[in-house]
Amino acid sequence: MYQGSILKYPQFMSVNNQTPIISLMEGRTLLVPAPHIAKLTKVNGIKVYLKMEGLNPTGSFKDRGMTMAVSKAVEKGAKKIICASTGNTSASAAAYAARARALGYPLDCFVLIPAGYVALGKLSQAMIYGAKVLQVEGNFDDALNIVKELSLQYPIDLVNSVNPFRIEGQKTAAYEICDDLGAAPDYLCIPVGNAGNITAYWAGFKDYIKNPSARPKMFGFQAAGAAPIVRGHIVEKPETIGTAIRIGNPASWKFAEAARDESKGIIDEVTDDEMLEAYRIIHDCEGFNCEPASAASVAGLLKASRQGKIIPESTVVCILTGNGLKDPKTAMDQSDMAAAEKTYKADENVIAGVLGF
Ligand SMILES: *Cc1c(COP(=O)(O)O)cnc(C)c1O
Repeated sequence: MYQGSILKYPQFMSVNNQTPIISLMEGRTLLVPAPHIAKLTKVNGIKVYLKMEGLNPTGSFKDRGMTMAVSKAVEKGAKKIICASTGNTSASAAAYAARARALGYPLDCFVLIPAGYVALGKLSQAMIYGAKVLQVEGNFDDALNIVKELSLQYPIDLVNSVNPFRIEGQKTAAYEICDDLGAAPDYLCIPVGNAGNITAYWAGFKDYIKNPSARPKMFGFQAAGAAPIVRGHIVEKPETIGTAIRIGNPASWKFAEAARDESKGIIDEVTDDEMLEAYRIIHDCEGFNCEPASAASVAGLLKASRQGKIIPESTVVCILTGNGLKDPKTAMDQSDMAAAEKTYKADENVIAGVLGF
């Protein structure tokens, strides 16, 4: 029986028989073909797959890292965990703390979020899982600085991706892709916010694929309004519709650059309009779902292919980092609300007329 992402790949994880494994059966997410997006790239013979990380237990890839971070926190006897979050980390931390309590380990979860910038689905998750949610009057970077300081001064464990166990746990997605494809893809397209995930994937591919030339090129994409790595300097007031990547000073900045350089990849930016167009395509033309920030991977692939950066016959995996249901507001804003709000008489003939018969 599947026992979650740590026990699927224990040889690559810092666990032993004594480690209490706190799992919600994360991982084992689907890799699905995206024929419409492949066609849009206009690259001959390309194969495009989407890695559906929104299928994780709390709806984002954060669960892969959180199972490790919370297991290790419980192993050393922590009673409290804390994180700063653009939303998904808080939902995940809150859920794994609840799971730890179910297994008999008292664990309280505290989360700091930037006031007004967290999608409702994520906020409601953190709350119903029993976390103490504190909205701070600042952005993610401000909140991260506070929780880092608190974890140094008080007996409370930090579960942001600066926690090395988070990154370690997130490597499992790279192993799964290699297992599913029977090899690494040629390109991995991924949204970049705090840059922990691109760091984790690259570490995962290095673990799994011994031949350096058989590893993928890492193509990371930031939002144009929050693109510090692309610009080469901290962005004081990051802005983007993709709130999960609204980060101006990524914690894993240097590791992301190393992943880019070692893999001969790129870190580029996509505009909010490009992200939203990809978001609509993923839903309307492929039938899959994701949150706005996740669409940066597909927007980035389309941009890179327009620029001739994808060679023919390639296999490309785009990571869809989070579930579309977390952010219904953006989905509604991108749709024809006037049509949706109009009401009709409950009459068969009226409705038939509207259907064009
Ligand atoms: C956290 C998150 C990201 C960004 O990942 P980083 O590791 O911070 O670069 C992207 N998309 C979603 C949905 C996320 O939750």
